[in-house]
Amino acid sequence: QSEYKKCAYCNEDNTRPAWCQSCDPDISTRWTSRNKDIDDCMKTFQLRAVRYEDVIEWIPFDRLSEIKIIGKGGFGSVYSTAWLDGIRKVKKIKDGNNYIYKRAREQSSTVALKTLTSSMENNNDFLKEFKSLMACKLNANKLAIYGITQNIETKEFLMVFQYANHGSLSKYLRNNFCNLTWQSKLEILKNISDELDKIHRYAKYIHADFHSGNILQDQRSYIADLGLSKKTDENVLEGDIYGVMPYVAPEVLSGEQQFTQAADIYGFGVI
Ligand SMILES: [Zn+2]
Repeated sequence: QSEYKKCAYCNEDNTRPAWCQSCDPDISTRWTSRNKDIDDCMKTFQLRAVRYEDVIEWIPFDRLSEIKIIGKGGFGSVYSTAWLDGIRKVKKIKDGNNYIYKRAREQSSTVALKTLTSSMENNNDFLKEFKSLMACKLNANKLAIYGITQNIETKEFLMVFQYANHGSLSKYLRNNFCNLTWQSKLEILKNISDELDKIHRYAKYIHADFHSGNILQDQRSYIADLGLSKKTDENVLEGDIYGVMPYVAPEVLSGEQQFTQAADIYGFGVI
């Protein structure tokens, strides 16, 4: 008998705490954003969820309050907000000699929102970045992604993801460099290299914009901003070179080569 008890729908053993793999992924797809591309993209990933906490959601904009801008860049803006319904949690409760697992929410959790400048006219760039983030997430990226919402007034789509309270690594280093020990600096580099390795090896992605402004920091480091990333085998049209100059590998900067995983490693070297 499973220690996770029976599923309330099919009466088979649950596969994870408060989660039945045969029923719950399907149940989580019963909603609509009224936009077919967004629905299709999100439902693909909902069907791949294997834990209650990992299910991404269509989050109604009116369930987000106190939206504050925390960053603005060439590709869009980032906000912090309180998500009233909140982050999914599974509670482990002692019940006699056993434990029971209950679905819960961390109400009014602080989360981050991100828009892309083009997300009103064109969902493609937005969905491309979302897919990249989810693909890397499924392959062990630690940054949590909670779903997508849409600004009711501007109609812009926004990604909802984990709020990192120290902001970007570049900001964190600027504010704390003198207080950081070598030990903690090495710990940061270990987190980053570990995650970059997984993005390269398992997700088979090239980040292609790898610098300390695209790494988020709270208790650990997370690789974020996969807006320019691409699959290792994806061919891109020749043309513009994006990136933060000091972090761009010389062969990419000179136009001799497109971005490669090796060019990501160059960026890591500069960090
Ligand atoms: Zn079931």
